[in-house]
Amino acid sequence: MRIYVNDVAVRDGFQIEKSFVPTATKVEVINQLARTGLHKIEVTSFVSPKAVPALADANEVLAGIDRVPGVVYVALVPNVRGTQNAAATQRKPDEVNGVVSASETHNRANINRTHEQSIAELPTMVKVAHEAGIRITMSLSTTFGCPFEGHVPEDVVFDFVERFREAGFDGISLADTTGMANPRQVRELTEKVLERFPPPNETYYTLHFHNTRGMGLANVVAGIEAGVRSFDGSVSGLGGCPFAPGATGNICTEDMVNMLEDMGYDTRVDLAKLLAVARRIPAVVGHETPGQVMKAGQTLELHDPPEFLRT
Ligand code: ZN
Repeated sequence: MRIYVNDVAVRDGFQIEKSFVPTATKVEVINQLARTGLHKIEVTSFVSPKAVPALADANEVLAGIDRVPGVVYVALVPNVRGTQNAAATQRKPDEVNGVVSASETHNRANINRTHEQSIAELPTMVKVAHEAGIRITMSLSTTFGCPFEGHVPEDVVFDFVERFREAGFDGISLADTTGMANPRQVRELTEKVLERFPPPNETYYTLHFHNTRGMGLANVVAGIEAGVRSFDGSVSGLGGCPFAPGATGNICTEDMVNMLEDMGYDTRVDLAKLLAVARRIPAVVGHETPGQVMKAGQTLELHDPPEFLRT
């Protein structure tokens, strides 16, 4: 069974780094990632450079990267203005990904908008993107829990999914923004979403997990059991949480690929090439990163037996 693997490290990961990663380095990392067999790469974000200075070079990154055939290049857009900026840039992304939080408090903290304001912008975002020939998907942040409000009622999630579908988005991502989801919840909620709103294609729904509390890969398995085929990760496990200093970031892309391939799924990702990217990330950001396979090696990377067993 095919599982589609997307990497968001350059956006979700780099945005939280204290030191600015030079544009040329971002371009190099993206180009290297694009040759590993990944389905999508989220390369930047059209947000206010004042709010996220780490991603102020969106136009330069998009202008500088190679476009490897078959790879979908994505930029995050928080609102109509961001969508307009993505549509106006010289080398446009293939896809933009909007974001609304299921929790009102998180929506205001993250993108400074009420639910009402966010919802009002949805049709215009779709129109602007489609007129520019760009696909547009929508992420529902804090789907599985909010760091301010706690549990998010399922009906709120269903309501947003319905609105996104009605507005004409090309895909929906359910995001566990601060790593509060557990596998049972993922399986149950995701199953209900897919049942009520059947996907028109196998990559329509994406699950986006953070490994903040160590449940990330278990949540991927639960999501596959619920019927989802597309998952976000971040190479070397880069990322964090602005509300929980010291928290780990997104689930680690190469750890996910290693697990999925061991389980017999077809990711089309060259794990050795992906590990090569992961192993250069600590030098890029100037600190250790949480990825585990980058340290332990692939499952079937065998070792010499101890000396006394050799004849
Ligand atoms: Zn995230």
